[in-house]
Amino acid sequence: MLSYEQARNRVIEEIGKRKGPPATTIASVWDALGLVLAQEVRTDREYPPFDRSTRDGYAVRSKEVLPGAALKCVGEIKAGDTVSEALAAGTCLQIMTGAAAPAGADAVVMIEHTSRDGDAVRFDRAAQPGQNIVPRGSEAAAGETILKPGGRLGYAELALAAQVGAVQLQCAKRPRVAILSTGDEVVLVDETPGPFQIRNSNSVSLAAQVRIAGGEPIVLGNAADRIEDLGEKIERGLKEDALVLSGGVSMGKYDLVESALKAMGAEFFFDAVAIRPGRPAVFGMCQGKPVFGLPGNPVSTMVTFELFVAPAIDLLSGAEARALPLVEARLAEALKEKPGVTHFLPARVEWRGGIPEVKALKWQGSGDIAALAKANCFLVVPADREIIEAGVSVSVLLRKDVV
Ligand code: AMP
Ligand code: MG
Repeated sequence: MLSYEQARNRVIEEIGKRKGPPATTIASVWDALGLVLAQEVRTDREYPPFDRSTRDGYAVRSKEVLPGAALKCVGEIKAGDTVSEALAAGTCLQIMTGAAAPAGADAVVMIEHTSRDGDAVRFDRAAQPGQNIVPRGSEAAAGETILKPGGRLGYAELALAAQVGAVQLQCAKRPRVAILSTGDEVVLVDETPGPFQIRNSNSVSLAAQVRIAGGEPIVLGNAADRIEDLGEKIERGLKEDALVLSGGVSMGKYDLVESALKAMGAEFFFDAVAIRPGRPAVFGMCQGKPVFGLPGNPVSTMVTFELFVAPAIDLLSGAEARALPLVEARLAEALKEKPGVTHFLPARVEWRGGIPEVKALKWQGSGDIAALAKANCFLVVPADREIIEAGVSVSVLLRKDVV
């Protein structure tokens, strides 16, 4: 049986080898948050476009500024002012943050380090050449590529595009991810379940996880545990860029997802992973589309989505698969888990005094959504550990939506 790392790599490898350039769309910088860029963005001019003062103070010739020296202030430069005249020897100019330093000035002295009497400015300390001035072109040259295809647009990238006037961006379309739950016991979330029925919470969590991963969820509803119904709905799902099913992949008599997929020509790369929860997770390709059969227990569905489906959505978006958000934390209380599988336990990590500390939460197993709703991470217990003592460093997989 594959470890979760091996299974995840398998997903990345199989989808990576088939993927072509993604379909693209034009999005404005106001709407492109989280999209993957499909073009280069180049600067329209040098950055900064002028020698920019980073402080409120005085523009000076640094060699004229020694402790106790005084210079005559002959004017001021505000941010946005056009500066045409050079700084004359023996003088200084009052300058504001974001204003252009005049020719001849090679430093700005912070106002806090000066005192003023009429037009005489006295300096407390020596000035260093270059201080508090960002030279023209030092952030980027004119025409330089500053954003590349395949990069994800976060707030800094969007600001950078806006800075150079690239307000309409060619981006990869969000991959359309079909979501199909299965199970005779499952009813719509706005229906009242019978005494032995349950609401379709998995379609809700999966839709949210698809969105967070950068995809567009296409919720297909629920298939009964019958080959014909599964087949029909799977066929509909295969029209999208990827298909994610929940439930019906265990060993039960009515777990028919794999058979239904097989009947439609699926090739499987794994149908079990050495993890708990989530062991029966299935990944394959069916009619050229990636398909995931995630176990139906809600926490299993959530964990296996993060491990296996999220990287697939990255690749289908034209980006590289992002690494799992794993961090090290100090274990607050000792743990004992069955060895042989990697456990992902609902847990809370807290950053007290800098060093993160993690505690597993009490839970009733993989059906316990309430426990996960209290968690901000999964505590990862490696397959080769049975007992972990308190105080030891362990890995935690962050819940990116709440941390
Ligand atoms: P399965 O993987 O089909 O054997 O289902 C495992 C458990 O998850 C069962 O208790 C199911 O009732 C439950 N389950 C299956 N599908 C869903 C769903 N869409 N929403 C919530 N729970 C589900
Ligand atoms: Mg089922």
